[in-house]
Amino acid sequence: MKRITEGIVWIPGQDQFIPDAHMYVLGDPKGDDITLIDAGLMRKSDYKLKVLEALDIEVSQVKRLILTHSHLDHIGCLPELKRKIPHMEVWLHTLEAEELEVGNEMTVYGMNLFKTMVQAQFGLKDGVFKMGVDKRLNEGDQLLLDGILWEVLHLPGHSKGSIGLYNRSSRIFISGDTIYSDYAIGRFDLYGADPKELRDSLERIVGLEIDVLLPGHNNIMEAVPDGYARKVYEQWKNYLR
Ligand SMILES: [Zn+2]
Ligand SMILES: [Zn+2]
Repeated sequence: MKRITEGIVWIPGQDQFIPDAHMYVLGDPKGDDITLIDAGLMRKSDYKLKVLEALDIEVSQVKRLILTHSHLDHIGCLPELKRKIPHMEVWLHTLEAEELEVGNEMTVYGMNLFKTMVQAQFGLKDGVFKMGVDKRLNEGDQLLLDGILWEVLHLPGHSKGSIGLYNRSSRIFISGDTIYSDYAIGRFDLYGADPKELRDSLERIVGLEIDVLLPGHNNIMEAVPDGYARKVYEQWKNYLR
């Protein structure tokens, strides 16, 4: 765990063959308006709840969980978390919220081969991720989370409902799986992915002023060098067509 700012804590994912997304904890740990960003892989809820406990955050303080998108490595332990924090709202982009609500799990698993393998390995049945979404997020939404303003950017390409959360005043960007540190970008071969859309989404990110980059996996960047997103975009754009 690492405190990034007074109101943001990073809980690194614990990859085990399959990646486990990072969780970010937004809000004053002494307050009652805590937001979690992304849940993580199956069986990782206990680990993440233990970190919350170490931060002196009780589950009663957690108001909502925002998914950057609904891939398995981000939503996998959400059913576990919901059992432990039943009042916690789930927020997700409209396009993927519609899928979860009708029980379409194609975005969750990304491809049928992976679905078959993972369902056998973890004993998951069809419909585990069918759930109600409390708030459907859309491009341009302004979210006031414990008094801090976050803008929702719809960034399709890695998945159709991928979002980024941008805090303009502190130049902090929570990027999900669209752009990582280490000059990497999200894969664009799974169900709902689209390389051209990913290219456009990366181009949008080039236009943001970002000092702190908080992606869904691997390293974070607390001092983003000038022109970082542009370099990533330039490096990848010819593969995204
Ligand atoms: Zn993903
Ligand atoms: Zn991921």
